[in-house]
Amino acid sequence: MIFKFGFLPITIIDIFDIGIVAFVIYQMYEFLRGSIAARMFMGLLVILFFSVVGELLNMSALSWIMSSLKTVWVIAFVIIFQPDLRRLLIYLGQTKLVRAIVRVGEPEFINDVVNATIEMSNKNFGVIIVMLRDVGVKSVLETGINMQAQVSKPLIASVFNPRSPLHDGALVIRNDIALAAKCLLPLSQNPNIDPALGTRHRAAIGISEQSDAIVIVVSEETGMISIVESGNMVRGLTEDMLRKKLKDAFAPLPKEKRGWKFGFVTSDT
Ligand code: ATP
Ligand code: MG
Repeated sequence: MIFKFGFLPITIIDIFDIGIVAFVIYQMYEFLRGSIAARMFMGLLVILFFSVVGELLNMSALSWIMSSLKTVWVIAFVIIFQPDLRRLLIYLGQTKLVRAIVRVGEPEFINDVVNATIEMSNKNFGVIIVMLRDVGVKSVLETGINMQAQVSKPLIASVFNPRSPLHDGALVIRNDIALAAKCLLPLSQNPNIDPALGTRHRAAIGISEQSDAIVIVVSEETGMISIVESGNMVRGLTEDMLRKKLKDAFAPLPKEKRGWKFGFVTSDT
């Protein structure tokens, strides 16, 4: 024991204990910040808060409801955030120490996607490419034409050629595999979207609200390139900006350079 805090004896071990817990919680907060998991986690905190208040004030009905919710919530959290929890574990496996041993390069499909997007922007072809990460979008894939093809620049350019039977709708890819073309995406219901944006852009925002995908849009009207993540759209990207965004999102990099933080699409552009 090194000193007493009121009636609580505090030892060196306790200080380490508190320090480690604080560090772990902070790291998890930084990691999950801006993800849907973080928002759900805040929901859980609100429930915890009310259940503590309910118990402190002896409100038995409130604390009963809150404690039942608490149990359900923890199970729901694990099920719903299986992808985020998995990402957390993957991240732990990608820390500097591990990466120093296993070197991981930049995936080639990023170049294919960027080059194809630039070409189509120059030609004013309308494009939506949904680049999946952890969350699956099975119901969306079912609306399209199944592909299962290796991603390449000519493949993407062929899909979005206005004469192609596949050009209408979105191309969904997971890493270097094109899963399906001509997919119908859910339109965003967000009332704050610029009314000047048409259905292509609303569809891109819609799918990004329901998954952790990164969505690239090229406007048929202006050739402008936009990128959408978590319901946030950044318009008018240059080739370099697009490449950087995709590298940050898909190439294994240290955490602080990845695009998981809140405001990813607006913070540094
Ligand atoms: P642009 O700037 O390219 O004109 P926009 O946002 O104004 O885009 P529209 O002009 O309405 O949008 O674009 C219509 C095209 O967007 C459709 O031909 C189709 O390819 C695509 N699109 C529209 N809705 C969806 C959807 N729900 N899912 C996938 N693609 C869609
Ligand atoms: Mg339009």
